Amino acid sequence: MPIYEYRCRQCQQISSIFVRSISSPLAPSCQSCGSEEVERRMSTFAMGKTTGDVHNAHSMDSSSRDYYSDPRNIGRHVEESFARHGVDMPASVRESIDSARSGEAPKGLDL
Ligand SMILES: [Zn+2]
Repeated sequence: MPIYEYRCRQCQQISSIFVRSISSPLAPSCQSCGSEEVERRMSTFAMGKTTGDVHNAHSMDSSSRDYYSDPRNIGRHVEESFARHGVDMPASVRESIDSARSGEAPKGLDL
């Protein structure tokens, strides 16, 4: 269950508001003075108050890393370079990419 923090514009107090459902309408108000002029504290929210958001941030990172570690994407950049210049890819390059995608180390690659 997410907890949102709001800062009151009237008295500057912080209110922590439990949100039962993301789809439920939210009408936050200050827990000190009752004012509805509150603003969401995004910075605190993003810094680990809720594990859900932290997790999402991390999986965004890892998915971008996964793109490059995914064998199907090996050599994609090379393929695009050749295609962009209208040049046929040399067979040796084609072979290296294919073998890398199938899980083998490309020939001549110094690991
Ligand atoms: Zn207030």
